[in-house]
Amino acid sequence: MRKLNRRTFNRLLGAAGATAAAGLSAPAIAAATKARVVVIGGGFGGATAAKYLTRFDPGISVTLVEPSTSFITCPFSNTVIGGLNDMGFITQSYDALKARGVKIVHDLAVHIDGGKKQVKLARGGMLPFDRCIVSPGIDFRWGAIEGLTADIIGTIPHAWKAGPQTTLLRRQLEAMPNGGTFLISPPPNPFRCPPGPGERISLVANYFKKHKPKSKIVVLDPKKKFSKQGLFKEGWAKLYGGMIDYHNIDNDGVVIRVDAKGKTLHTNFGKYSGDVVNVIPAQKAGKIADVSGLSDQTGWCPVDQKTFESKLVAGVHVIGDSSISSPMPKSGFAASTQAKVCAAAVASLLAGETPGTPKFVNTCYSLVAPDYGISVAMVYGYEGGKIIKIKGSGGLSPSGADANFHQQEALFADGWYRSISKDIWG
Ligand SMILES: Cc1cc2nc3c(=O)[nH]c(=O)nc-3n(C[C@H](O)[C@H](O)[C@H](O)COP(=O)(O)OP(=O)(O)OC[C@H]3O[C@@H](n4cnc5c(N)ncnc54)[C@H](O)[C@@H]3O)c2cc1C
Repeated sequence: MRKLNRRTFNRLLGAAGATAAAGLSAPAIAAATKARVVVIGGGFGGATAAKYLTRFDPGISVTLVEPSTSFITCPFSNTVIGGLNDMGFITQSYDALKARGVKIVHDLAVHIDGGKKQVKLARGGMLPFDRCIVSPGIDFRWGAIEGLTADIIGTIPHAWKAGPQTTLLRRQLEAMPNGGTFLISPPPNPFRCPPGPGERISLVANYFKKHKPKSKIVVLDPKKKFSKQGLFKEGWAKLYGGMIDYHNIDNDGVVIRVDAKGKTLHTNFGKYSGDVVNVIPAQKAGKIADVSGLSDQTGWCPVDQKTFESKLVAGVHVIGDSSISSPMPKSGFAASTQAKVCAAAVASLLAGETPGTPKFVNTCYSLVAPDYGISVAMVYGYEGGKIIKIKGSGGLSPSGADANFHQQEALFADGWYRSISKDIWG
């Protein structure tokens, strides 16, 4: 529990004096002096921030706004798509957060008014705040490619927000004939989970190898290179032979038109058809950030990287995928570590104290097969007004490692998922 310093004590004393003068009872005094934080989004960033605010200062009133009654994680959703786990494995409950005293409002925030310090809800209510923390994840840049519109996701799923899209892509793969083609187009940078497409390609290949060995995977990637490329390609060569046909920007990987009906992707030089087609659109900050003036011309939200307070709207903090937190990647682990830093900063600011200098950590595990893991890790500090990589920390799994090493990494991946889920929602 936070210790009261002289300034906080005086502030509370002052408020108590004023309310006592107004004839309020003791519980009313406590209520009147409680700082209010509204957290928007109950995913990796928001749920962590809500939980850790209650830990850093139990005196703060924390309200979490999230439309869903449970959270389905993108991490490990590729294992569902690859047939290794079911949806229950990646579904998290909000019960533990409620038990900690977080008030959960299952609604959609439609506008944050930084001036009036209130959040407008879709069902019409208004939530006042002293500080607001926003972690709404990503939205898609529909229309950036001809024919790639929100209304085709029933045929061409993105499965880049876990939930019904994950189930749909899995069902399509199950229904695909042996000898069919899975056509996947990863998004341009920057996007949520840089190694995610590589892991999806791997786990679909693992499924095909066991159940539909005559099938092919065609990848049309608009980038020059992708995260952990060397390690993925080493694993693909070892495990999947010639099953994966990978194209990049130099080799006809850029999709310029999507024909959803014909399940065909057009490039400048040719066209590719698939039995199952998975196009992951370009991304930007979640819609609430855009409509509340938190994002800039890049589509993402500029923040003070020490406290995550928006550079555009005072009193509102943005964390996770929506924030500009480079050199950190857009990952669940990064969102959660940013949330802890942000919660500590918000608790300090509400107490009239100066936030400390943060440190961050991130590890992204990926499965090339159920018993073949790879990883990239980094520790980050804060210097010269921005987040920096700590030299000599982290790194990639070594190339040329033996089967035992990759088996260990697969176990670490599973352990990471279970422990971070418990830390946030457990
Ligand atoms: C296939 C895949 C695999 C991945 N694997 C990993 C991995 O192994 N490790 C890893 O670290 N990361 C992984 N990620 C990335 C990770 O999922 C994201 O980086 C992480 O979820 C970001 O956290 P966030 O809080 O920013 O957003 P989210 O976790 O997406 O949470 C956003 C929440 O905000 C809510 N919301 C949105 N708008 C509103 C609104 N207006 N009002 C109220 N609520 C709102 C949403 O309902 C959602 O619950 C993966 C991603 C994908 C797609």
